[in-house]
Amino acid sequence: MGEELISIYEILLARYGDLHWWPAKTPYEVIVGAVLTQNTAWSNVEKAIANFGEKLSPDTVENADLAELTEIIRPAGFFNQKAGYLKAVTAWYVNYDYDALTVQRESLTKLRSELLSTKGIGQETADSILLYAFSFPTFVVDAYTVRLCNRYPINAGKGYAEIKAYFEGNLPRSADVYNSFHALIVINAKEHCRKKPSCKGCPLDKTCGRCGL
Ligand code: SF4
Repeated sequence: MGEELISIYEILLARYGDLHWWPAKTPYEVIVGAVLTQNTAWSNVEKAIANFGEKLSPDTVENADLAELTEIIRPAGFFNQKAGYLKAVTAWYVNYDYDALTVQRESLTKLRSELLSTKGIGQETADSILLYAFSFPTFVVDAYTVRLCNRYPINAGKGYAEIKAYFEGNLPRSADVYNSFHALIVINAKEHCRKKPSCKGCPLDKTCGRCGL
């Protein structure tokens, strides 16, 4: 196993603890959040999800007309596109009777392939859904992960598939570890490793090659 990655994980874990992501009440809420968070801040996603009130469910999205759905999710931006994406991913989920346990009985490879064939679902969204809604061991690579790799540096390669394979190949194959590590990378990026890094107090300051530069 990659000692460097594990060391980074342990340092971040010691600082922030296990964050128990994703902030959602149901697997379907994770799916909706994973779609809505594309190209927008999480605070906008929260507003859009709040607009559903108690009615956030696959049935609501399936039965809503596009104009109605667009209005509900407007705070998340790109609302016309995202309304179509939500309809599409909900149509995928109905194949499993909107039931998380039924999804979990299928193979990760099959599900990932189905999601990647679904309108509006790219690799990051597919992996976020599979990891955070259904607890499959699939690592999520996002812009924060790439930033950390570039700065630290972690020689994880280039492009989504290569970086994902590097993390998965150098960590225990565990949904809990992938879940926690990705959440830790995100929080550290928000607290310290921002676009303009704020290295003072960063838990990685002793080992990161970019510290203070
Ligand atoms: S030390 Fe600075 S550059 Fe390195 S991870 Fe922390 S904030 Fe980012």
